[in-house]
Amino acid sequence: MTGAADIPRRRFDTLVIGAGGGGLRAALQLSQDEATVAVVSKVFPTRSHTVAAQGGMNAALGNVVPDNWHWHMYDTVKGSDYLGDQDAIEYMCRAAARLVVEMEHAGVPFSRLENGKIYQRPFGGQSQNFGGAQASRTCAAADRTGHAILHALYQQNLRAQTHFFDEFFAIDLIKDDEGHILGALVLEIETGEPLVIEAKTTLLATGGVGQLFRNNTNARINTGDGMGMALRAGIPLEDMEFFQFHPTGIAGKGMLITEGGRGEGGYLVNKDGARFMERYAPKAKDLASRDVVSRAIATEVREGRGCGSGGDYVLLDLTHLGAEVVKKRLPGIREMCLTFLHLDPIDKPIPVFPTAHYTMGGVPTNRYGEVVTLGEDGSEEAVPGLYAAGECACVSVHGANRLGGNSLLDIVVFGRAAGNRIIDYLKSHRYHRPLPLSGVEQAVTRLQRWEQVGEGESVGALKAELQRTMEHYCGVFRTEEVLAEGLKKVQELEQRLAHARLKDHSKVFNTARIEALELENLMDVALATVSSALARQESRGAHTRIDHAERDDEHWLKHSLYFKGGRLDYKPVRLQPLTVESFPPKPRVY
Ligand SMILES: Cc1cc2nc3c(=O)[nH]c(=O)nc-3n(C[C@H](O)[C@H](O)[C@H](O)COP(=O)(O)OP(=O)(O)OC[C@H]3O[C@@H](n4cnc5c(N)ncnc54)[C@H](O)[C@@H]3O)c2cc1C
Repeated sequence: MTGAADIPRRRFDTLVIGAGGGGLRAALQLSQDEATVAVVSKVFPTRSHTVAAQGGMNAALGNVVPDNWHWHMYDTVKGSDYLGDQDAIEYMCRAAARLVVEMEHAGVPFSRLENGKIYQRPFGGQSQNFGGAQASRTCAAADRTGHAILHALYQQNLRAQTHFFDEFFAIDLIKDDEGHILGALVLEIETGEPLVIEAKTTLLATGGVGQLFRNNTNARINTGDGMGMALRAGIPLEDMEFFQFHPTGIAGKGMLITEGGRGEGGYLVNKDGARFMERYAPKAKDLASRDVVSRAIATEVREGRGCGSGGDYVLLDLTHLGAEVVKKRLPGIREMCLTFLHLDPIDKPIPVFPTAHYTMGGVPTNRYGEVVTLGEDGSEEAVPGLYAAGECACVSVHGANRLGGNSLLDIVVFGRAAGNRIIDYLKSHRYHRPLPLSGVEQAVTRLQRWEQVGEGESVGALKAELQRTMEHYCGVFRTEEVLAEGLKKVQELEQRLAHARLKDHSKVFNTARIEALELENLMDVALATVSSALARQESRGAHTRIDHAERDDEHWLKHSLYFKGGRLDYKPVRLQPLTVESFPPKPRVY
């Protein structure tokens, strides 16, 4: 293995780690400004998880029913169970319409209404006039919106001459003694050779961490690598206890059936054929917020009203929509049902159960995409040279529960914002800072650890055990006892991981080595998630504590910050928007 001094180096103004919608939108902003930009991705860019997004992107265009950004802001604050930062939420909702138009001009073929305007479907948690009638705010390209956005952004980046490092795996950030982030050590997966990418600014855009749980909607690559890198660089993770379980995953398999299914008029029924959402959310019914619908499904199953021989799922019924609507608006999910369930949703309802879907928490940033940590006096401080955007970041616009359609919006809004902030920074920071070898050595040590030979447990088995443990001990419903047990189990797994060994030490396309590095990240993020969940003694958004069933604004209206090693700290929620009045916390009913 090469020593730190011998590793080849490349230099750029900006290193973007991750080529999903968040990373690519930021890279585009920078390349168009003639900064030199390297985008590193562990898979070919258009295979990033953004490609799988189905339902759409929110913006108050008002093409179907009246709408405006202020109502969108209200819904997002309420959806977040008041944990979202209202300055960032205002910024995002105001920018939304402009960014949908921008995406359209970049090449996204949005579905159309008869009058030629962009089609918008109703989604969960959307209302007109601050909690009134259902809104229709989600701009969709059929049920393949993420696919269209990612491909458009990739092509625009090629045109702007962004430099891509496809199938390179980022191992760790490089930091100097003064705390500046100076790039990262990466591994070329094809050759197994390391490379140092030096940069004046580095953006984390590595996506979410759905692979924490056994049943999930996420791609295999969503292992929280950027979050692990941040923790190891001394940066905390924010609000990790809030993990979104999507109500309608294919039962037993986890793949996603978009909320668009219910948006188009589908509904949920239990084994008695009853539309049970009427009991849980009398007004919004099947289009209540995701946390509400997931809990309702889990409750139906627990109380013996589930379907099938095991009674362990409910049914999503689309049969009354008619073949034409399903084929035109939901072709992707029909195809998925035909392939994986041998069932046509035009004729038969789909078996569904909540499945791990979205990471509300992440690397703390402000609304400019700058990564922030707590200074010694407890105030917020930017980490020089480091930015984050997309699902790996916590701005926080989603608070304790994200609304469907707000993430595709988040990634383009804050990808762009981070790009702009970096452009400003580069104007006054024209030279690279010297790169200390000690910063590289730490990352090299992490890589070399996997070269140890001898007997040890397999990475694959440990990963499966971690995913089962998280599902069992940190799922939809939580208690102190179960979480404490879960934390102990994850800590034991962490110990065992330290003694795991690779059987295959070859260099070329050694995916076993990549999986080992990913599992280290998953383990760090699992510890952050369970520890933050154990500490938070209230129920808010997606975090449901049976032993603390109420939201407790007096003690818990604050963001959690988890530091590697287990220390927890907290910071206040930003309740003050930019120009409008604050939405104060209220009981949340749908
Ligand atoms: C099935 C599904 C459907 C969804 N539908 C919707 C929807 O309809 N509307 C909506 O708003 N949201 C939806 N979401 C959520 C939304 O799609 C995601 O939150 C968003 O696309 C994440 O984008 P991103 O750019 O942050 O990350 P991703 O698209 O996940 O990209 C992450 C990138 O990081 C790279 N990477 C990660 N680790 C490393 C490493 N160590 N080294 C190098 N590269 C690395 C990957 O290669 C990839 O390029 C959906 C999510 C899923 C899973």
